[in-house]
Amino acid sequence: MTFLRFVRILRQVEATSSRRATVALLAEALAELPPAEIPAAVLLLQGRIAPPFTGIELGLAEIEAARALATAAQVSEETVRQQLSQLGDLGQVAEQLLPPRPGGLTLAEVHTALLAIAHEHGAGAAGRKRAALADLLRRASPEEARYLLRIATGTLRVGVGDATLLEALACALLPAGRTALPVLERAYALTSDLAYVATLAQQGEAALRDVRLQVGKPVRMMLAERLPTPEAILDRLGSHQAEYKYDGERIQVHSDGSQFVIYSRRGERVTHQFPDLLAAWQATPHLPFILEAEAVVVDPDSGALLPFQRVLNRRVKHLTPALLEAHPLKGFVFDLLHLAGEDLITLPYRERRARLEAFLPSSPRWALAAARPVASPEELTAFFTEAVQAGAEGLVCKAWEGPYTAGERSTLWIKYKGPTAGRLADTLDLVIVGAWWGRGRRGGRYGSVLLAVYNAQEDRFETISRLGAGFSDEDLRQRLPALLDPLRRQDPPPRVLAALQPDVWFEPAIVCEVQAQELTRSPLHTAGRGQLGERGLALRFPRFVRFREEKGPYEATTVEEVLALAQASGIPLQ
Ligand code: AMP
Repeated sequence: MTFLRFVRILRQVEATSSRRATVALLAEALAELPPAEIPAAVLLLQGRIAPPFTGIELGLAEIEAARALATAAQVSEETVRQQLSQLGDLGQVAEQLLPPRPGGLTLAEVHTALLAIAHEHGAGAAGRKRAALADLLRRASPEEARYLLRIATGTLRVGVGDATLLEALACALLPAGRTALPVLERAYALTSDLAYVATLAQQGEAALRDVRLQVGKPVRMMLAERLPTPEAILDRLGSHQAEYKYDGERIQVHSDGSQFVIYSRRGERVTHQFPDLLAAWQATPHLPFILEAEAVVVDPDSGALLPFQRVLNRRVKHLTPALLEAHPLKGFVFDLLHLAGEDLITLPYRERRARLEAFLPSSPRWALAAARPVASPEELTAFFTEAVQAGAEGLVCKAWEGPYTAGERSTLWIKYKGPTAGRLADTLDLVIVGAWWGRGRRGGRYGSVLLAVYNAQEDRFETISRLGAGFSDEDLRQRLPALLDPLRRQDPPPRVLAALQPDVWFEPAIVCEVQAQELTRSPLHTAGRGQLGERGLALRFPRFVRFREEKGPYEATTVEEVLALAQASGIPLQ
């Protein structure tokens, strides 16, 4: 496929707000592609050149891309900078500065060239990256250059989520079409690799069904549901096992027997953040495995669990020995997904836990998640009290017979964070999609933000609250602008459904945790409109708790979850 044709598809997708129409458009485009080009197209549609878990990023700062553009357009860097400050988007600047010409790039060529740029390392890499990009731009038409630059600087954002792409792949590649979607979704949940899943889909449903876990490809994480009371949990699960809910960072550790890789809950490679955890295991011989744990900072002297905020102190570019010593981590392991060539995810929790207990190499840096069988609300409450006293956030209650449901929020894991007098049973993780300018003390800055939940069914974000309370002065002065400014856009993003009109819109990317007193119905918000009609769900007395940097927009609280919460709190849903 020519790159120009691909760009035209991107343009159409960008201009489409209906999910169905987007799927149809993408399916048509995918069906048109030669099989060998489908994996590259799937990646480029999301503005990527390789799946996130590979850690392969273009790594081109806007300033470097701007310099490449100056070379290609034979203008001064100053001219590019001036235009950039006027237009705000380097892609548009390219469209204006490059001479009209037909272009002649192919999709495959662009992907290969960008991959080569990503692989440039070592001394002089920045210069070589810039030269290679300038070379591509010189061969591009102005329209192609616009999208090329957006991909190169990681700002393509046409709004194609994984769910939409999977559906399009099902329609384009599988004879059974949309009805075969669950098979594709499962293959994706087990490998997190859309390009690979697309390749398998070309071989047919059987190939997708045969997918196994692979050390080195993150499994999409199983998520927990919430219920408000011990009674409700026992009603649902019966006798079960409760585990401490540690308040740290979820990690998935892969080992092929000698090398380790750690993935975050977004499936990104974060191995470098955990040298101390890995050092504890590196010396011990072990079988290949995939396991999950919560990494928590512990007090260096007493070993007591410390609150989540302390994990953030380690999020720096260069972890020094002093920082590692001041904020030591401990990994509390709660699941074993794969061991020595055998996938364990379909086994019941009871058996996975037993295998984990037998397998876990002993080390002062690692421990099993504390667990206890519970058979009554009293036992659950007693274990909850113990957990909180030990510094945990609450409990995760797990059905004995439950498999590990990759990528799904399951009713087989239920989190419990304690009695809920005067507030919602749990905090919500919401995506910032817009903001209003502040007044008075907050003048000239973002004063409040518009928050949304994720609707996985429709692959869109539906608003649920306006939030101003709980931000510190530093949040307002520094963090909000630093996080949000790069995501600003003039029009509402294509995947956002809103009734309110904020002063500024943002690409859905930043997730924050919010506590509220209760849920109500409101015509100002769109959360759950598909199910509820014109009056969506809204939060009363919302309050900012913290940024959830480890969560991406697709890991935010879903509309199904808030509907369930509303039901549990007795809100009339009709
Ligand atoms: P939440 O992030 O509020 O949806 O709660 C679920 C999270 O609790 C998981 O994603 C894990 O990061 C964390 N967690 C802590 N301890 C456990 C445990 N024992 N089992 C499962 N998840 C746990």
